[in-house]
Amino acid sequence: MSNDFQFDDDDFAKDAGAGTGSRVFDEFDCPGCNANNPVDDTFTDGDEVRCNYCGCEFKALVNQEGRLRFREL
Ligand SMILES: [Zn+2]
Repeated sequence: MSNDFQFDDDDFAKDAGAGTGSRVFDEFDCPGCNANNPVDDTFTDGDEVRCNYCGCEFKALVNQEGRLRFREL
């Protein structure tokens, strides 16, 4: 199990309310254990998601390019 996911703080320092659009996702790959997690509901930038496998919780962050990243809670 690696812990090699990247989080670049600079990308998010000013993106709140910057008009990143409303991309929504219905699944995510856990940054902690790499498991693919479908979610019952959709989530988008700023939502919190929880891995069904390792139980870690993350805040979903979508940058201006529409790329999904996670911040561990
Ligand atoms: Zn996990």
